[in-house]
Amino acid sequence: MLVRFWGVRGSSAVPGSLTERYGGNTSCISIDLTPSDTLIVDAGTGIRELGEAAKKERVDAAAHTYFILLSHLHWDHVQGIPLFAPFHDAKARIEFISDPELNWGRRVMKQFGGDHFPLCEDDLLATVVHREESPKAVLAPFLDDVERIRANHPGLCYGYRFRKGNKSLVYLTDNEVTGMSVPLTPREELVSFCKDVDFLIHDAQYTALDLPRKCGWGHSEVSDVCRLAADANVGKLFLFHHDPNRSDNDIDGIVASARDYLSGNRSSVSCSAAREGDSFDL
Ligand SMILES: [Zn+2]
Ligand SMILES: [Zn+2]
Repeated sequence: MLVRFWGVRGSSAVPGSLTERYGGNTSCISIDLTPSDTLIVDAGTGIRELGEAAKKERVDAAAHTYFILLSHLHWDHVQGIPLFAPFHDAKARIEFISDPELNWGRRVMKQFGGDHFPLCEDDLLATVVHREESPKAVLAPFLDDVERIRANHPGLCYGYRFRKGNKSLVYLTDNEVTGMSVPLTPREELVSFCKDVDFLIHDAQYTALDLPRKCGWGHSEVSDVCRLAADANVGKLFLFHHDPNRSDNDIDGIVASARDYLSGNRSSVSCSAAREGDSFDL
């Protein structure tokens, strides 16, 4: 299954020459479950690029289903919804996965309706479905297991662990590994949640210079993320949710410091910064 990064930035989209290598779009990744089923995790501005690519890749394609699973409803994780081209494709089926009491799918679809975007839901051609079941139940035909964990972030935010056969991936963004005075999820639980995964995509928005001013804001400092990855024995760590004020060169520096930290602690974890347009096989 191919995993692709469509948006890797936190808080705000930041186009421009200083961010063109890593990309300026906000959080969105996809996992190709089958040739006609795609799981999308988070719908920041990166989902627009995904939709445009789908239009090109799927000319004359038969029906395609997009499952949309969200970490939370903060702006940088949902604002690409109105610009997702498959909403205008009559062959597309778009299934939001959300607990019934949370209603996340219906809430983000309110962006259609006139106030924030000129089109209403009735103008859309795709079939939109709200699956009010657990992610594990909805994705059972494709994945052997889906678990979730409460992230240390203001409001309700989840991280997810996906497993297919003996391969696994954790997507855990907008999470503060340590630093919250009363963590919603203690560090030890985060370590066991990530234990032995092949790939960990984790928020790494802050450097030591951002602390202690930003303690409790719900994002992680890079060395804290490296320590989590090392303690959990993950295979590959992708630093994610880059601060909007960080240039490409800044991110290069963060990756270098993360690799120094890991090698200095005799860790075998391989580490890169998530980059828009990159992909890997799960
Ligand atoms: Zn965010
Ligand atoms: Zn957030």
